[in-house]
Amino acid sequence: MNITELARILRISPQELRDLLPQLGFAIGQKAIKVDNNTAKKIIKDWPFLRRQWEQKKIAAAIKKQDEVLPKERKTIEVPAVITVRSYAEVAGIPVNRVLMELMKNGVFTSINEKIDFDTASIVGENLNLDVQLAQKEEKTDIREDKKLAEILAGEEKADMVERPPVIVVMGHVDHGKTKLLDSIRHTDVVTGEAGGITQHIGAYQITRSGRILTFIDTPGHEAFTAMRSRGAKVADIAILVVAADDGVKPQTVEAYRIIEAAKIPFLVAINKIDKSDADVNKVLQELSTQLNITPEDWGGKTICAPISAKDGTGIEELLDMVLLVADTEGAGLLANPNADAAGTVVESNVDKAAGPVATILVQNGSLHVGDQLCLNEIVYGKVKSLKNYKGEEVVEAGPSTPVKILGLKISPAVGDILHVGEGEKVKTKKIKTSSQAADVVVSQSQSSGSEQAEDKTPKINILIKSDFLGSAEAIEESLLKLNNEKVKVRIISKGLGYITEGDVKRAEDTDAKILGFNVRIAPNIETLVREKRVIVKMFSVIYDLIQFVKEEMQLLVKPEINRIELGRLKVLAVFRTESGSQIVGGKVLDGSIKNNSFIDVKRGDDYIVTGKLTRLQSGKQDVDEVDKDQEAGLKYEGRPLIEVGDILNVFQEEKIIDKI
Ligand code: GDP
Repeated sequence: MNITELARILRISPQELRDLLPQLGFAIGQKAIKVDNNTAKKIIKDWPFLRRQWEQKKIAAAIKKQDEVLPKERKTIEVPAVITVRSYAEVAGIPVNRVLMELMKNGVFTSINEKIDFDTASIVGENLNLDVQLAQKEEKTDIREDKKLAEILAGEEKADMVERPPVIVVMGHVDHGKTKLLDSIRHTDVVTGEAGGITQHIGAYQITRSGRILTFIDTPGHEAFTAMRSRGAKVADIAILVVAADDGVKPQTVEAYRIIEAAKIPFLVAINKIDKSDADVNKVLQELSTQLNITPEDWGGKTICAPISAKDGTGIEELLDMVLLVADTEGAGLLANPNADAAGTVVESNVDKAAGPVATILVQNGSLHVGDQLCLNEIVYGKVKSLKNYKGEEVVEAGPSTPVKILGLKISPAVGDILHVGEGEKVKTKKIKTSSQAADVVVSQSQSSGSEQAEDKTPKINILIKSDFLGSAEAIEESLLKLNNEKVKVRIISKGLGYITEGDVKRAEDTDAKILGFNVRIAPNIETLVREKRVIVKMFSVIYDLIQFVKEEMQLLVKPEINRIELGRLKVLAVFRTESGSQIVGGKVLDGSIKNNSFIDVKRGDDYIVTGKLTRLQSGKQDVDEVDKDQEAGLKYEGRPLIEVGDILNVFQEEKIIDKI
């Protein structure tokens, strides 16, 4: 085969191929035009492996060149539980490309804006001459902040508290219609409608229905996700999980559901786009049930699944009534003290060129007034100069569950930050880092442990995925969830990037999960731990093999069905010999035909006596496999020796039906 032809197949340049082949152990000259067909075949077959080897060699060579940029002496750095590659490089004082390269060398392919977890940061740090420590401070700050809100609410006197509107969040896969639904809901509100339709977008809005106020979080999908995730969905009381009727359950549907489940908030499902010709509501219900264990109300479960069209407005009124119903039945205790100092969560934040930091806060307790001083963890963020409601109107105060836009802050908070009114300390530097994003996880690490799953007796195989790219982890998850059926299910405990670490092994042990690595390695020094904990860790480089492995494991969990095949009946005319565990008897076949190596139920009249095995069959002193009706037979029975003359032996075989999944 021509070198050019081979290079084209491998998608590299002919010169690269000429340079590469000798490095990989193929004898070929710099000017070669052809390689023999066998070599070409071998190269094509092994290409994925060879390419990886080549890339790693290239990286190693480049690293050698770049090692001057590393700290000369071992440097200790502190990083949070999760950090972007960019920030990691900044903290370490190493060019970000060098960090990316090191990650790649370790099988983690990320971009500078993606996040790595602490374990990965510390392993990679080894070769970067870094001693990576977990920054305790930031973690504590987060906890303090979260606790603060809970503490504030817990500290309120019951008598001072009044009912507050429920706060609703809309979640689901991209393009399934979250934005459209939020628009559609906004339009049901006459008041807003009269005021001129959609007004200012501030990250949340309110509607009135049946004389009651409902607050909807209206931040763009991703931010809402992040805020929900980092704050454990403390902002919302009820979730609407949107699933498109023409598309069904998708990876982000699964992720959204996990978040909802982990937050333990009531939710309902809106099956959207039912106006479309290829909408299939039943299929969606089926997928919800098999992939997420959500049993729709119509099927006897407890989850409301409302068919809607956000485009036409079909079913929106009904959906809102259902939301109110959920608020009444499951959202009891939505109370707050409107007279206290305000505290609430930031749902939207940006810096306006003219106005400076602008943030929308959802007040969760107390009332916020113009002139109040807002703090984050006792640090002053600024004074409220003006407040605007979701209609863009100036207001002087905002009570519980009300979203308001704040102007006048000196420091821009991050989405998810909890601000409270207080004295606080002024900071000299404006460059304070907000901590909220730090608690965000790389990819979903939530453990699904909802009560619906506990009730479900279907055998499950728990899986923890570690992969080189987020994309491959998602592809694997999607493929694995497709294997779910009513007999056995796959549960993805978590998925993440990079090395298989001590944390993964412990999590796998706690959740009785198997760890599946895709194009990644096991962190050094944890092999012993893996062995000690008896955790199953399997490595794959082909998705198909990984799926095949899971399929086989699932198959093992499916109990075969036993089918009983009646062969025939024999009347016992003589008992020739009786021993402790067997008997030799003779008789006549009444019907059917009896076979050797089968089972026998012994019956006396209508009474069942015992079951044993037929292990030898004779006809006219000859060993045979089968004796037909009306013929006489002698047989050896193994089992408790209870057979008597006159008994009827029901002879049958068992067939194991293994349900292929
Ligand atoms: P999001 O990414 O979940 O916020 O999805 P969007 O609300 O942006 O909707 C994605 C696309 O689906 C847009 O083109 C919408 O117009 C369309 N869409 C949303 N809801 C419906 C619906 O009920 N019926 C139809 N036919 N299209 C819809």
